[in-house]
Amino acid sequence: MMSHASCPYCGEHKIRPSMRAGFLDLLLEFFSLTPYRCRGCRARFYWPRGRMRVVQ
Ligand SMILES: [Zn+2]
Repeated sequence: MMSHASCPYCGEHKIRPSMRAGFLDLLLEFFSLTPYRCRGCRARFYWPRGRMRVVQ
């Protein structure tokens, strides 16, 4: 089974890891949060690493 997560904003599954940019991303990386970008609505959000199996 493929592990995938959906965008919390639009529900699309077109999300992919985003480049870290800035101090905030480094700080959140410390808490195991990885930045992701939605290709559907272009929203940017953070997701706990290793927990990409959330399916609504
Ligand atoms: Zn989206």
